[in-house]
Amino acid sequence: MTGPISTTHHGDVLIVTSNNPPVNALGASVRQGLVAAIEQAEGDEAIKAVVIRCEGQTFFAGADITEFGKPPVMPWLPDVVDRIENCSKPVIAAIHGTALGGGLEIALGCHYRVAVPTAKLGVPEVKLGLLPGAGGTQRLPRVAGVQRALEMVTSGSPISAKDACDVGLVDRLVEGDLAQHAVAYAEEVRDIRPLPKSSERDDKLAEARASPAIFDEFRKANSRKFRGFEAPEANIKAVEAAVAKPYAEGVIDERNLFMGLMSGTQSRAQQYFFFAERKAAKIDNIPEDTRPRDIRKVGVIGAGTMGGGISMNFLSAGIPVTIVEMAQDALDRGTGVMRKNYEATAAKGRMTGEQVEQAMGALTPTLDFEALADCDLVIEAVFEQMEVKKEIFGRLDGIVKQGAILASNTSYLNVDEIAASTSRPQDVVGLHFFSPANIMKLLEVVRGAKTAPDVVVTAMQLAKRIKKVAVVAGVCHGFIGNRMLMPRQVEAIKLLLEGASPEQIDRVHVEFGMPMGPFQMADLAGVDIGWHRDKERIENIRDALCSIDRWGQKKGAGFYDYDDKRRPSPSPVVQQIIEDFASKQGITRRDIDDQEIVERTLYTMVNEGAKILEEGMAQRASDIDVVWIYGYGWPVYRGGPMFWADTEGLQKIVDGLKAQEARMGSDFSFSRLLLDKAAKDEKFTR
Ligand code: NAD
Repeated sequence: MTGPISTTHHGDVLIVTSNNPPVNALGASVRQGLVAAIEQAEGDEAIKAVVIRCEGQTFFAGADITEFGKPPVMPWLPDVVDRIENCSKPVIAAIHGTALGGGLEIALGCHYRVAVPTAKLGVPEVKLGLLPGAGGTQRLPRVAGVQRALEMVTSGSPISAKDACDVGLVDRLVEGDLAQHAVAYAEEVRDIRPLPKSSERDDKLAEARASPAIFDEFRKANSRKFRGFEAPEANIKAVEAAVAKPYAEGVIDERNLFMGLMSGTQSRAQQYFFFAERKAAKIDNIPEDTRPRDIRKVGVIGAGTMGGGISMNFLSAGIPVTIVEMAQDALDRGTGVMRKNYEATAAKGRMTGEQVEQAMGALTPTLDFEALADCDLVIEAVFEQMEVKKEIFGRLDGIVKQGAILASNTSYLNVDEIAASTSRPQDVVGLHFFSPANIMKLLEVVRGAKTAPDVVVTAMQLAKRIKKVAVVAGVCHGFIGNRMLMPRQVEAIKLLLEGASPEQIDRVHVEFGMPMGPFQMADLAGVDIGWHRDKERIENIRDALCSIDRWGQKKGAGFYDYDDKRRPSPSPVVQQIIEDFASKQGITRRDIDDQEIVERTLYTMVNEGAKILEEGMAQRASDIDVVWIYGYGWPVYRGGPMFWADTEGLQKIVDGLKAQEARMGSDFSFSRLLLDKAAKDEKFTR
């Protein structure tokens, strides 16, 4: 046999081996080979049992995602799984690495499953907006039980082989040589008839059949998590069908639900995002042989909101950190917060006490800048003021060893100007973390005009080490993410004056799928961020709120009133402030419909994204989408602002903006790229 599937004999057991690096994806040639191998077993009387195993890192880790959206090539995976299950001789799956998606469905088609303890089993399809469509939603509840199946299909997270063994998904855990154990197992079971077929079992469905309310309970318990997503509900419906209907009918439901998801926008968006995330790691205009610099020790300046979180990333990755503050109390407060955060993680069982001590033990808090001398990377996270940053970079220049990378966590400031305050601008880069920095996955790597290629490469690699998703941005006010936030904010405030309420604007964003709207976000982050701190100087709504201590959630009042459980309610005080400003500015308030809010806050973001692209401040449209999904909670099922614009149609975006152009006035100008692409009926992403 040629191709990725080969067979060998071990006594009367046929060993079917897949060798399709890197993850034994179930591409057409693998599927064909598996069917041929089963036919071989059927046709050879001397063969009494079959073992299916994989070479390399892992058991089949899923469908071949590159086949998505292309004409299907026979045999289809569901038919392959059925063919395995209908083999007249026992088939044993020998699982190591990860049995994911189609891989787990193959394993479920086998009559028995043996696994090494390090193996993981799961059905991640939901993360791509899909469901396991090769019988997975029907066989999994029959083998692992309904509750566990629901959890697995809707979360997409794999379970350990031990858990799988406990729920009956794995028949035996084996240590040592997996193939040998699988053959031994095959010899044990070779004469047992009837063969245990997953699709014919219904013992584990009995409980759910008796109390079908478990489905609605499950929906309710997870409603927040599933909000806006189509795939979790389709997965639940498929498992419901497994319980309510005979297998033959359940698989038809599964197929229909699968096709519905596959042809929908959400799964396209989620698959697009899967590739977008990987593409973001690729850096344009970098010589291929560029080697990263060695980073063994990191310095952080400022132990405030960001400095502490940034430090934790490195400590958690085993990289020692020296953190510098200007006053002892700020240093103590900052390191105290870090310890508390680690201890909270430990309390949730996600870290051991020993790991907490190890991480904190690798931290050197100090007031002495000289302690940064031998750091390979220093990240500045002090106040957002150019003069302060320049002073610090000038000082660092005289202290830190040559070859070290000097980074700023600035949100908006010009990285080139900061770099110019040193004698080594080639070593300066922006590393823009998001808050809370120990949790948020996004990192904008801001490439200055003089930033050396190996500095960018180092930053991107380091991001991986600390489990961040990095996107390269150019130097412009607010880089990619915050820059796009600005036009949204400008229009949101104007909409308030013209007649909308904070509640309405926030509701439109939440219904769109954002975790919160602009005013909820302002209240959470602090309305006072960047405020001039002069209570007498009241030039806009924000100044008015800050002057009466409405700084947001931390003060129990901002754009909303908050009760002692931080539950928001509309504020008559704020309403009055808005109305007063409107009348002062001669604005006649009117009813504003939701569509206008979408056009003026979301379409303007797309327009800004297009400007970012045309100016070369982002390498590609998909990078902008990665920023918004990982940095600001843009709903992944809409694929990010640029992908979303493509699905809406760029001409529709242009028309919507034109309809609002007069209202937006001089705050707004069209992106040439957006107009061009709309006129040519092109897309930002493909
Ligand atoms: P913060 O006020 O919480 O912390 C700043 C810390 O820097 C303070 O503890 C202060 O004592 C210390 N500091 C100031 N000058 C110093 C000096 N000369 N030497 C040593 N320490 C000094 O501010 P933050 O929210 O952590 O923001 C820090 C930077 O990160 C800013 O540039 C900000 O724009 C950026 N940023 C903030 C966020 C956010 O959401 N807070 C997100 C991304 C980026």
